[in-house]
Amino acid sequence: MCGIFGAVSNKDVAREIRHGLWDLQHRGEQGSGMALSNGQDHWIHKGRGLVTEVFPDEVIEGAKGYSGIGYDRYSTVGDITEKEMSVNIQPFIGEFHGESFAVAHNGNLIDLEPLQREAENGGYSFKTTSDTEVIVGLLSVSQKNDFIEALLEILPKLKGAFSLVILYKDKVIGVLDRFGIRPLCLGRNDSSYILASESCAFHTIQGRLLDDIQPGEMIVLDKNGINDQLGPRPFIWAEDPQLKFCIFELVYFARPESIIHGKSVYSYRVKAGEILAKEHPIDADIVIGVPASGEIYDIGFSQESEIPLERGIGRNRYFTTKTFLTRRGTDRAALQRIKFHPLKSVVHGKRLVVTEDSVIRSKVAPEIVAMLREEGATEVHLRVGSSPICYTCYLGIDMASRGELIAASLPVEGVRKYIQADTLGYLSQEGMIKASGFKKENLAMGCFTGVYPVELN
Ligand code: SF4
Repeated sequence: MCGIFGAVSNKDVAREIRHGLWDLQHRGEQGSGMALSNGQDHWIHKGRGLVTEVFPDEVIEGAKGYSGIGYDRYSTVGDITEKEMSVNIQPFIGEFHGESFAVAHNGNLIDLEPLQREAENGGYSFKTTSDTEVIVGLLSVSQKNDFIEALLEILPKLKGAFSLVILYKDKVIGVLDRFGIRPLCLGRNDSSYILASESCAFHTIQGRLLDDIQPGEMIVLDKNGINDQLGPRPFIWAEDPQLKFCIFELVYFARPESIIHGKSVYSYRVKAGEILAKEHPIDADIVIGVPASGEIYDIGFSQESEIPLERGIGRNRYFTTKTFLTRRGTDRAALQRIKFHPLKSVVHGKRLVVTEDSVIRSKVAPEIVAMLREEGATEVHLRVGSSPICYTCYLGIDMASRGELIAASLPVEGVRKYIQADTLGYLSQEGMIKASGFKKENLAMGCFTGVYPVELN
């Protein structure tokens, strides 16, 4: 999972891209990058850390270009070295018949070997361990004379999930895979046309959401707006496109204020909480959410059950790292102690309903239950706004190996005992679909069902 952003304008776009990346920081905290173009030369800067660390004012002041793309990194390929962490930060730069281009990718490509071989046979040598570099390699060795034609030749060969922003000369090209697994949306403000992973990235730059990029679509932006060289929108490059949007974006990843394919992320979480209260009713004194991704579910649960909503867990506001985004091997349980501080005055002597977005490795939930009991909670009833995650993800979210997924090896009662909750209720798959507002056939739910829109060879 990563955040991507692209903008074309009639003025320098570096500040807009920095703001956009900052508003997409929740999609990746390991590093950020930006490539700009003035039509001929590229300016590029990237580094490890948060957007504000990689792009302080002194860097942005020297950044010139009317079009550009940006990237927030979250590694989805498991354990990587410190060196790989740095070189894998995008955008990646390639050369097409002597002209530079830059690529930023959200998602994960699979079955890469034949494509890597094709690029190497054409004379390209790989410099990173990132799946994305195969796109750069194939474009760099393409025999086509036109960049768009080269892209159209390569895209059908790619397998997996990909939302792309590509900078070529003064143009920003947006591409979505055949299933639209990851989000990519189009917006504009007074001076720029913008592509972003989520519509929350338009807020600071006073942009408005125009549309979602459609499954299998390619769009070309230049300083005049949407370039018509591909004909009227949407230009669909893929055969047989069909929306299969990743439901985990709604469960956890996307920001609540984002609107994706016309559906509100916030709404999913409220409705999921309401349905949870119907599917797993319980007699309790108060409902509290685990900050921040387990909150909002608590609103729906409280509204439906009429159990009062309270704030029962405070959070150290200076501890900003999302637990899910920490590297593998991190002691996630220990992080919960630093991050979360139960409010004794709220939870002492109370029977609690505690809402959480998901239970994955189960390093977090047992620690939270234990902390609440230490502060005097008499009962802790955990309610989860998604179904048991029994399968891993190879389409862009680092779900850990199947062996680490607690629901893959234990039934619900086994998970409850492990977590030491008094009761445990997961939202059903039907409940998830209903809360999403999407049709079942338009959702990817592989980590819940084991059925994926794209199968590994
Ligand atoms: S496996 Fe899960 S996280 Fe991965 S794309 Fe499918 S629904 Fe999303």
